Amino acid sequence: MPIDATLPYDDQNIFAKILRGEIPCKKVFEDDWALAFHDINPQAPTHVLVIPKGAYVCWDDFSAKASDAEIAGFVRAVGQVARALGLVEPGYRLLANIGMDSHQEVPHLHVHIFGGKPLGPMLMR
Ligand code: AMP
Repeated sequence: MPIDATLPYDDQNIFAKILRGEIPCKKVFEDDWALAFHDINPQAPTHVLVIPKGAYVCWDDFSAKASDAEIAGFVRAVGQVARALGLVEPGYRLLANIGMDSHQEVPHLHVHIFGGKPLGPMLMR
């Protein structure tokens, strides 16, 4: 079910539970600002999610309310994860879903990193 990204942050969402260590994940990276882990239902040979440590529903919430340090830390973490996964030379795709029309399902900001094969043009159904 897509979520309404204008609602307040729900600290019972699955990524909040992963951040608190209540649910396991296949971690690929962690620093003070971000956690990255493999998507449970991969849509590409490499499909990793990067989430900020702070409680933000979506990109809109984050870009409006996060501190400059949180934003810099998160953006740098996304780049660091992609480099560590060896995706820069072959290329990769970033995606962030925001709200109903995008079909965002988890109400904690996450950036998808897709790679590991030629992904083709972006398709909108
Ligand atoms: P979105 O539609 O952008 O909200 O994407 C949510 C993503 O989270 C989907 O690709 C799911 O496969 C993924 N996901 C949901 N639960 C987990 C989990 N426990 N561990 C890793 N990925 C998850």
